[in-house]
Amino acid sequence: MSSETPKKRIAIFGSTGSIGTQALDVIRANSNDLQVEILTAQSNDELLIKQALEFLPNAVVIGDEKKYENVKNALASTDVKVFTGEESLEEVASFDTYEVMIAAIVGFAGLKPTLRAVEKGKIIALANKETLVVAGDIVMQKAIENRAPIIPVDSEHSAIFQCLVGESRNPIERIILTASGGPFFGKKPNFLVNVKRDHALQHPNWSMGAKITIDSATLMNKGLEMIEAKWLFNLEPHQIEVVIHPQSIIHSMVQFEDGSIKAQMGLPDMKLPIQYALGFPNRIKNDFPRFNFKKYPVLNFDEPDYKTFRNLGLAIEALKSGGNKPCVLNAANEVAVWAFLKNRIGFLDITAVVEKTMEAIHFIEKPTLQEYFDSDGEARNFAATLMKL
Ligand code: NDP
Ligand code: MG
Repeated sequence: MSSETPKKRIAIFGSTGSIGTQALDVIRANSNDLQVEILTAQSNDELLIKQALEFLPNAVVIGDEKKYENVKNALASTDVKVFTGEESLEEVASFDTYEVMIAAIVGFAGLKPTLRAVEKGKIIALANKETLVVAGDIVMQKAIENRAPIIPVDSEHSAIFQCLVGESRNPIERIILTASGGPFFGKKPNFLVNVKRDHALQHPNWSMGAKITIDSATLMNKGLEMIEAKWLFNLEPHQIEVVIHPQSIIHSMVQFEDGSIKAQMGLPDMKLPIQYALGFPNRIKNDFPRFNFKKYPVLNFDEPDYKTFRNLGLAIEALKSGGNKPCVLNAANEVAVWAFLKNRIGFLDITAVVEKTMEAIHFIEKPTLQEYFDSDGEARNFAATLMKL
């Protein structure tokens, strides 16, 4: 990008999280081309204030209303507008002052503001996979209607997106999503039954927020990613495969109809897919460490252990059923992971809660947006009751 072109104005929804802070690192390193317009956080007021004082955006949102006064006072000497409450996320998402939303809120909470940005025709750099898991049909339909490009930030989907550049006339035969396998690769239920929060939070290759780190340990993350891929790349379930690749060097692959496979690879660093999404269609030069083949003489590939990591099978069931099943799967999983992080349930209970909730909530084949919200609420209540929360 040249300094002649106007700066891309960026809104980071979830700026205090793992993706949000890395997005700010990318913007800081490219401040000639990228500029922050909106920052949002849920409860981390201190970090939000620090970010706002550094980047001086047009507006910030602090979700937790109890933190509003503190943020307002801390930014009183600046022109930064301060908003609070859940609805203000949607209000700010519809502002005209930015072009690109980095959707980096975690979980279902990201859906409404992202949908609002889609309706406004913004470019969406999408990290919040739950948005597509819950209501992928509606989000993608609205993206087409409003010409809102959705550029994946999730590393696997960024890899596939990069493999597809220049291939618009060539149908995909299948995609191969790589999975590190997480910290419990090779373990069996008799080990997993005793796993505690702190152990599950140690991911071998990636440093991420707590929820996705647990999802990676249970393989639910890969299941959510299969559903995310279905919507992003318009695929049938049988075209989406998962392979365990413990080194996380190949970020995912596309096989075309001639059998040729394209892979995108590099060292695992989320700043790469983030900056790819922000720079697209251009690549942004950086000085990140480069991959060295001699340091990785072996790259391994393996079948997932579906019998032990049953979440993956449940997600595939949801993927194949469609309708509100993925939404229910996601809601039950969010509540169960939250309970696991609070040491209220065991590691294997997460799967049991998801499975029972999926059986209990009535199936809707073609939900409206309101029905997705209702299914989410019902599934959360059911899961919470199961766990006696
Ligand atoms: P974090 O938990 O680190 O950050 C989440 C962000 O969302 C924080 O800014 C948090 O604010 C905010 N937030 C949390 N709850 C709410 C809520 N109810 N309403 C509004 N804002 C909220 O998550 P990650 O950065 O790890 O992940 C973000 C998304 O990106 C997830 O969907 C994840 O699956 C996806 N992703 C993440 C990857 C990673 O490497 N981290 C890789 C690929 C995808 P506060 O800090 O104030 O709580
Ligand atoms: Mg991923």
